[in-house]
Amino acid sequence: MSQATNNHAFPSPARDAEFDMDGDTLREECGVFGIFGHPDAAAITALGLHALQHRGQEAAGIVSFDGKRFSSERRMGLVGENFSSQSIIDRLPGNAAVGHVRYSTTGETILRNVQPLFAELDTGGFAVAHNGNLTNALSIRRELIRDGAIYQSTSDTEVILHLVARSRRARILERFIEALRQIEGAYSLVALSNKKLIGARDPLGIRPLVIGELNGNYILASETCALDIIGARFIRDVENGEIIVISEDGLESHKPFPPQVMRPCIFEYIYFSRPDSVVHGRPVYDVRKRMGAQLAMEAGIDADVIVPVPDSGVPAAIGYAAQSGIPFELGIIRNHYVGRTFIEPTQSIRELGVRLKHSANRCVVKGKRIVLIDDSIVRGTTSVKIVKMMRDAGAKEVHFRISSPPITHPDYYGIDTPQQDTLLAAQMTKNGKIDIEGMCKYVGADSLAFLSIDGIYRAMGYEGRDAQRPQFTDHCFTGDYPTSLTDIAGDPNRQQLSLLAEAG
Ligand code: AMP
Repeated sequence: MSQATNNHAFPSPARDAEFDMDGDTLREECGVFGIFGHPDAAAITALGLHALQHRGQEAAGIVSFDGKRFSSERRMGLVGENFSSQSIIDRLPGNAAVGHVRYSTTGETILRNVQPLFAELDTGGFAVAHNGNLTNALSIRRELIRDGAIYQSTSDTEVILHLVARSRRARILERFIEALRQIEGAYSLVALSNKKLIGARDPLGIRPLVIGELNGNYILASETCALDIIGARFIRDVENGEIIVISEDGLESHKPFPPQVMRPCIFEYIYFSRPDSVVHGRPVYDVRKRMGAQLAMEAGIDADVIVPVPDSGVPAAIGYAAQSGIPFELGIIRNHYVGRTFIEPTQSIRELGVRLKHSANRCVVKGKRIVLIDDSIVRGTTSVKIVKMMRDAGAKEVHFRISSPPITHPDYYGIDTPQQDTLLAAQMTKNGKIDIEGMCKYVGADSLAFLSIDGIYRAMGYEGRDAQRPQFTDHCFTGDYPTSLTDIAGDPNRQQLSLLAEAG
């Protein structure tokens, strides 16, 4: 199997003498979980990962420590398929464990890329699980390989292990901090040494990470829904730039980086986090509903029925319906036994996935003017299929409303938005202006409107983006990337400009 086909992956040197980062190769969505001091650490980690399954469905792994030995199980597929039997839990003894769910965007995931990654250091074993994406991992990796480092995976996360291993500091925490000082980008990490569970969030806090507690034992998890599944109590979010160390002595907080204004990724609220999670004090469900209500205020239209694209468009459609007074109906029924459309790596399978996943509920749609609501348009694949499905089911008019702005820029921080030239809104940008009418025509709707960027911020309780800007990172909509993008060829804004020139 060629490394070049792996996602999240460093392109294989054979194919990629220049270490070109332009492909879809280095992006990944993930969820992380860790627990310290509980006799059922591995079983609880499996349950936590199951609640985080929406963050990654291709592979899962757990590393545990029993006071003497580390044990590791990493599998392709869903958590429930792989970590639900007693026999696998028995292979993960100990009262401390870390776990990870992941999915790749292109090509195949290979087992050696599945996290947590583990290494035997001179300080003992060390496991690390990562949600996010490093924007200078390739540069560091290249340097270390030239220096003789041998990599076991093609994952950017392995860079962290190498940097920890090479540190000359005596203690694992100091080594870990020294490693973090060298990396850029987004990281929410959980790591396990023979004495400590460590959590870390990058200086901008781009991806989420929370602290919980179960029977006096601390937990770290990507989202609060992973605490709810096991009846754990939410304590607080890990702060941006904060490192949490959990040991037999309790919980310590370290802040080794110069303080910075937090820039959490706004897409967690729009699409990525589970609606029952609370992210930075805001219930995701509530925010999505308010985005829908704001959308109704900005782009209301006379219609008979509000129809969500399930499941992603449901909370926004509820908000839109309440604000507009138009009835909410389930005009599309989702089959829950098919994975998210995005997960399938090829366009043709993706399209197939859309058809497998949704079907029209004719009795709701036939003869009606419908407002169809989804949270986002990425490539446009879902939109085209769903609008056609509504028309085929007899809808009289289909007005498409999107509860976020057009996605014009790729994400480099761990969310699978693809290369810029495959983003529909980027393709439809002419002379710096997004051709919404062109997008409407492309998806086949009677009208199309997006929530404004200010509208997003209003739904979050601000006066608008510029009032107290920027409270979040909204680079997918603005191109305003909050970190340097060392590995990304050229300046992304310049890339955008050249793209615009081509489109124009
Ligand atoms: P597309 O069909 O490419 O336009 O994708 C849009 C659909 O994918 C919408 O229904 C979204 O809910 C969903 N979506 C948006 N962002 C992501 C993402 N990062 N990963 C998976 N699905 C996504």
